[in-house]
Amino acid sequence: MKVLVINCGSSSLKYQLIDSDSEDVLAKGLCERIGIDGRLVYEKAGMDKEITEAPMPTHKEAIQMVLDALVNEKSGAVKSLKEIDAVGHRVVHGGEKFAASAKVDDAMIQALEECSELAPLHNPANLIGIRVCQELMPGVPMVGCFDTAFHQTMPEKAYLYAIPVEYYEDYHIRKYGFHGTSHSFVSKEAISFLGLDPENSKVIVCHLGNGASISAVKNGKCVDTSMGLTPLAGLAMGTRSGDLDPAVVEFLGKKLNLDAEGVLQILNKKSGVYGLSRGVSSDFRDLTSAAENGNHDAKVALEVFEYRVATTVGAYVAAMNGVDAIAFTAGIGEHDGRIRTAVCEYLGYLGVKIDEEKNAKSGDNEVISTPDSGVKVCVIPTNEELAICRDTVAIVNA
Ligand code: ADP
Repeated sequence: MKVLVINCGSSSLKYQLIDSDSEDVLAKGLCERIGIDGRLVYEKAGMDKEITEAPMPTHKEAIQMVLDALVNEKSGAVKSLKEIDAVGHRVVHGGEKFAASAKVDDAMIQALEECSELAPLHNPANLIGIRVCQELMPGVPMVGCFDTAFHQTMPEKAYLYAIPVEYYEDYHIRKYGFHGTSHSFVSKEAISFLGLDPENSKVIVCHLGNGASISAVKNGKCVDTSMGLTPLAGLAMGTRSGDLDPAVVEFLGKKLNLDAEGVLQILNKKSGVYGLSRGVSSDFRDLTSAAENGNHDAKVALEVFEYRVATTVGAYVAAMNGVDAIAFTAGIGEHDGRIRTAVCEYLGYLGVKIDEEKNAKSGDNEVISTPDSGVKVCVIPTNEELAICRDTVAIVNA
């Protein structure tokens, strides 16, 4: 099957056309600056990247341009749109309604509208992508894959906040967790790559990218994760604060004469390692080189990040009463061996030992712990598009 994977943001759209049999990416790219001016990036194996500037007042023009590029006589990946068998859509928030990917139908669209309040920046854009694809590709089956779905197996004790329970019942305030497609993909890959028993395994996945989260996966099911009602919770991230005393919101608001929204803007965009480093960067490559050149703030920012990752891993060892494997993934998790080592130094009490030669490699699935390590530590590159493609095929063929 040929599956088009669509990840629609508010002013951008990423796409991949995947052959599900070979799992090869036939073409991929993105549309940027939708609603501003418009730019299409198109890549096909063996060809130079094509960049086309063209007006994209709405997502409709953007998706139409993607479809035109895919069937282009010279550079297209298919002869006709009829070759595209299904579309898989990334959807950020599925609330409590979706514990797995599901076929797009009217009921799903209505449910997504209902939980848009929980992800006001993302879900409306995801919905537009679904509607436009339905219009431009009538009759093609579509599947929604949710960032929150994998975490729906968390028990009440993990997902409830200790506030009056009516607020959970009335307003659905609880921990949902995000990056679920990645946590699901990486935990499954880790279990099969390491030869663990899927029904009797304890895996901790550290998804460390610009946004970062950790999950505890027991017997293949998520039992806790570090993000919350929104993706602001948990670890310190590129520009996000992660967890802090909720009283900081009011305290800082008074000091800066800002309302809650104004403070949250700071916690989302100006905090994390970016804020701690006094604006050196949110990019770990820049921070590492600044720290190596003696920048104290950059050094401390990295230490805060490592400390939060390590202490969250420790919490999840307790949540599962043990751990068989720790998997690192996403931009930092896959490429920054120094961070992996720094995190694992805190885990000596578990008998974790890193093989620095293996840890220096990157790019593929890799065990980076020594044979006598108390816990297996590995790097597993994430592939959310492939995960969406696999789910889409499974649901369409069901
Ligand atoms: P997201 O998808 O959340 O935007 P990514 O998973 O692409 O983020 O991760 C982006 C981060 O990965 C960047 O902030 C950068 O610091 C880090 N990163 C990428 N490559 C490297 C590298 N070679 N060494 C260190 N950090 C890297």
